[in-house]
Amino acid sequence: MAALPPFEHTPIEGIADTVKTIRTSFLSHKTRPLEFRLVQLRKLYWGLKDNEALVMEACKRDLGKSSFETYLTELSWCMNDIVFMSNNLARFAKDEAPEDIAFTNKLFGPRIVKDPLGTALIIGAYNFPIQLSLGPFIGAIAAGCTAVLKPSEGSPYAAAVMQKIIAESLDPSCYTCVQGAVPETSALLDQKWDKIFYTGSVGVGTIIAKKAAETLTPVVLELGGRNPAIITKNADPRLAARRLLWAKTLNAGQVCVSQNFTMVDKEMLQPFIKEMKNALQEFYPQGARKSPDYGRIVNLRQFQRLKKMVDDSNGKIVVGGTMDEADLFIEPTVVLVESTDDSMIRDESFGPLLPILAVENLDEAIKIANEVHDTPLGLYPFGTKAEMEKVLAQTRSGGASLNDGYFHASIPTLPFGGVGSSGSGAYRGKASFEVFTHRRSVTKTPAWIEGMLDVRYPPYTLKKQKK
Ligand code: NAD
Repeated sequence: MAALPPFEHTPIEGIADTVKTIRTSFLSHKTRPLEFRLVQLRKLYWGLKDNEALVMEACKRDLGKSSFETYLTELSWCMNDIVFMSNNLARFAKDEAPEDIAFTNKLFGPRIVKDPLGTALIIGAYNFPIQLSLGPFIGAIAAGCTAVLKPSEGSPYAAAVMQKIIAESLDPSCYTCVQGAVPETSALLDQKWDKIFYTGSVGVGTIIAKKAAETLTPVVLELGGRNPAIITKNADPRLAARRLLWAKTLNAGQVCVSQNFTMVDKEMLQPFIKEMKNALQEFYPQGARKSPDYGRIVNLRQFQRLKKMVDDSNGKIVVGGTMDEADLFIEPTVVLVESTDDSMIRDESFGPLLPILAVENLDEAIKIANEVHDTPLGLYPFGTKAEMEKVLAQTRSGGASLNDGYFHASIPTLPFGGVGSSGSGAYRGKASFEVFTHRRSVTKTPAWIEGMLDVRYPPYTLKKQKK
């Protein structure tokens, strides 16, 4: 295997010129032909394929991800997106016949043309460093935009591998990667963009949205979670425990869409805790720490934040709890908390912490869900069909998986996004094309129709007004 490329900050003084090149290429119409976009997508596919081993190694170094997880949630994820996009691009890009057009207006041949928005800035997060960066990037290429990717500096190995793949595979006048943290991202935000696609925390999302507002640049914000799960007295505790534990052990719980806390009907509390213990034992018979399938916390800062969250909690650890700073290891940890004021419910953990709160009944769970965060990214009820539908009907969220943890987010062609303060805009599948596309309404007025149009020209005589 080739050596991992180094992560190097892009010199700030060159950023404006880099963006200018990428913008000039868009204005040269180079990315308009579908054939050009398809070639770029194909090259990106092979760039990923050829660098599979490096991607695996990078994700291992950054997040302790197992090769299986990296393959499933990063590599094949992006490669399948490319195949899907390539197979469907001609259909997505075709002019569309608008609906609800009156017969007389059809004479003007109204249609919707799929125009690329222009030059896009894509800012990625660290937890799924490849998919959260290249996912939207694939959409931008398909839509005919030129684009700059700013991967998260939190996963520097993956960021450097992506830069290598982009530089080696794609047209450098149209697509590039800028590396860095706040100063470099701020320099990027000072440039003119036609779309900014941001994935990350609510706090930084607010900074991005404010900055974009100065130039009326449209933004997509894929933001933080604080997602509730609800277990009613009629749920299957074993099934709920296995599914929710999986949702908090994949990527060591560093998943925006995983449950942040679980409300459990008081009758189901003990069976659920018991099944959580069983599930943990089944997933990791030798313990999570020794398992090659369990990842690590991305860095010391995040480790300490998570540790503090547990330390500050008034809850009682009922499963797990082992931590090792030297190894950035946090065992999947179930904490029985007593109030919604607890730090573990109030704040987004974004790690393998599973606070559970006993509730009287489903109505109380719904009330608390709406109070803690009225527009979370995801929502996960477990119970009877009627109970789960009731939860859907009485809450809001970006997406929801009934009877599971974030299954909806794993369907590659289902639009994914938040609502309210969990984000705006969606992507994946056709939505990835649409999010970088302007639907341009076009008509063409035939010359022969001039006689019929006479009515619109002044003078507005009485005769015309009676027509
Ligand atoms: P982050 O907000 O710290 O960083 C994300 C990106 O923003 C990075 O590329 C970073 O360089 C840049 N950035 C950071 N500070 C900045 C500033 N002051 N000005 C400009 N740019 C800045 O997020 P993170 O720590 O990488 O990810 C964790 C958060 O992201 C969690 O809240 C999680 O829920 C959320 N997230 C959301 C999704 C989603 O799809 N909705 C996916 C993954 C993560």
